[in-house]
Order: sequence, then C-alpha cells, then structure tokens
Amino acid sequence: MNEKLQSIKEEAIRQIKESDAPEKLNDVRVKYLGKKGELTAVLKSMKDVAKEDRPKVGQMVNEVRAEIETALEETKKQMEEKILEEKLKEEVIDVTLPAKKNLVGHRHPNTIALEEVERIFIGMGYEVVEGPEVEYDLYNFEKLNIPEGHPAKDEQDTFYITKDIVLRTQTSPVQARVMEQGKLPIRMIAPGRVFRSDEVDATHSPSFHQIEGLVIDKNITFADLKGTLEEFAKELFGPETKTKFRPHHFPFTEPSAEVDVSCFKCGGKGCRFCKGSGWIEILGCGMVHPHVLEMCGIDPNEYTGFAFGVGLERIALLKYEIDDMRLLYENDIRFLKQF
Ligand SMILES: [Zn+2]
Repeated sequence: MNEKLQSIKEEAIRQIKESDAPEKLNDVRVKYLGKKGELTAVLKSMKDVAKEDRPKVGQMVNEVRAEIETALEETKKQMEEKILEEKLKEEVIDVTLPAKKNLVGHRHPNTIALEEVERIFIGMGYEVVEGPEVEYDLYNFEKLNIPEGHPAKDEQDTFYITKDIVLRTQTSPVQARVMEQGKLPIRMIAPGRVFRSDEVDATHSPSFHQIEGLVIDKNITFADLKGTLEEFAKELFGPETKTKFRPHHFPFTEPSAEVDVSCFKCGGKGCRFCKGSGWIEILGCGMVHPHVLEMCGIDPNEYTGFAFGVGLERIALLKYEIDDMRLLYENDIRFLKQF
C-alpha cells in the first residue's frame, strides 16, 4: 500500500512539474484528489485493508494528499507570478509616446475684448456694474429721455415681453438704476448683452453686447469726456491713436458726439481696413442730459456727467480684424481657436 501511495505521489508531482498552465494543474488536481481521483480511490478501498492497519494507511493517504496539495499550490503561485511578469513586460509603458491631451478651451474674442476694456476703465477708477437683461420700459426708455412715440421705441427695434417689459435694447438702463441709488460721485461701466429685433447679417445680430460708461460728479465737463475717451482709445489701439469727435444726437446726452479713432492699420493714411478714410468709428458719447439727471433724482445744477457706449463686438471685430460679426456666434472651434 505504501508503495502504491508513493508511486501515486511521484506521478502526481511529475505531472504538476510538467504543467505549463493553471488549467493543467487543475486537471492534475481532479485526476488525483477529485471525487473519482486516484487518491480518493485508495481511501475508498480502505475496507479491504486490515482493521488495525487502517489508521496508519489513512495517515499515509493524508500525508500524500497534503504533499500533492502543497506542490499544486506552490506551482500555481509560481505560474501566476510568471504570467503577471510576462503581462507587465508586454504592457510596458512607453514614456516617449505623447500623452493624450485634454482639450482645454479658451476665452471667446468677445470675452478677451471685454476684459481688455474692463482693465482700462478699472485702471481709471471705474466700477463694473451689471443689470437685468429683461428690463422695464421705464428704465430702458423713459428715464433715458426716450418718451412714448420716439422712433427708438418702435416695435421694429424692440422685443417686447409685455407692454411695460422689454428685452433691454441698450445697457443704459443700468446707468439709470445706479443714478437712482443716489450714491455720488459715479464712475462706472456697464457691460452686457442687449437685444434688438434686427435681421442677422455681417454687422447685425438680434443679440449683441454693449459697454456703457457713466461718470457723474461736480464740475465734470466735456473736456473730461474727451480726455477719458482719448486715453481709452490709446490704451486699446496703441499710443499713436488719435480721436475725432463728430457732433451727433442721442436722446439721453446733450451735447452728443460720435467718436472716430485714427485707423490703427494705416495710421490715418487711408487703407482698405478704414475704407480709405483713415478713421474708424468706435463709439457714441455725450454729456448726460439734465433731464435724465433730474428723472433719476440728481440735481443738474449741482452735478454734471458724461456717458458713452461702445459695441463690444465692434471692438472685437476691429481688434482681431474679423470682417463678419456672425463668425463670433457660430461657435466654430476652428475660428475661435485663432484668438
Ligand atoms: Zn486705414
């Protein structure tokens, strides 16, 4: 019996050593230790063993079983280590491969232009104020000296929510709101989205952005307005930039002017960019109308002020020499990537 057990053990261990895959080890386990396995068969044949020898044979069977199990375990462990090692070798990281890049977005030309304008005015001591895009007719028109019947109130230009509520057509209502609070002096710019019922073309969009500025204090004159906007133009378009004030009319300022800057492409000689004139129109401005001050609770005998408004898209288009406003809103990443 001992001899038989020894030969079973030797044969099992030989087969274990020959195994080259975990599946084969399992076959060996089944062949020797399984329910119908050879070692199990020995246990089953115990009834043929003399009663007094049974404990001894049982012990031997257990010892052989333990040895086979140990051999199986160790070999399995070695095999798994080897498999892991090979896997690691195969999957070695090539540090010279370029890493996957996360697509990082960046600022829209409008945002870049806005931040530039804000930087300039904050540098001159201005506050940046925001207001509602859905606005009362009262603030969008009435308090800005645009009474009932004024062409600017024509439904063609304005999106009405109700009779008294509109999508703001300008950022000027923010000025009226700030003036009403009565905290003087005021030095502010109000950037934001505005809405007009315009057809989309190269220079128009039903939704665009304005930056309006307002200064109210004692002894503010047109000279302050000129100096401020000249400084702004130089900061924005370069120190050589000249400005030209042309008389104009706005309901909420008196006197009013439109401002041209010398063409920053040709320096004023005239080129395709400025359509040969040497000048580019950039904004509208004027001294705040005394009636506007009054309607907002400010005494026009004590305080004066100036206001100006510039289209943000206009600045972005000029600064980046973009010839079609629609490009700013199409969200074509190939276009936006250039800025
Ligand atoms: Zn030019």
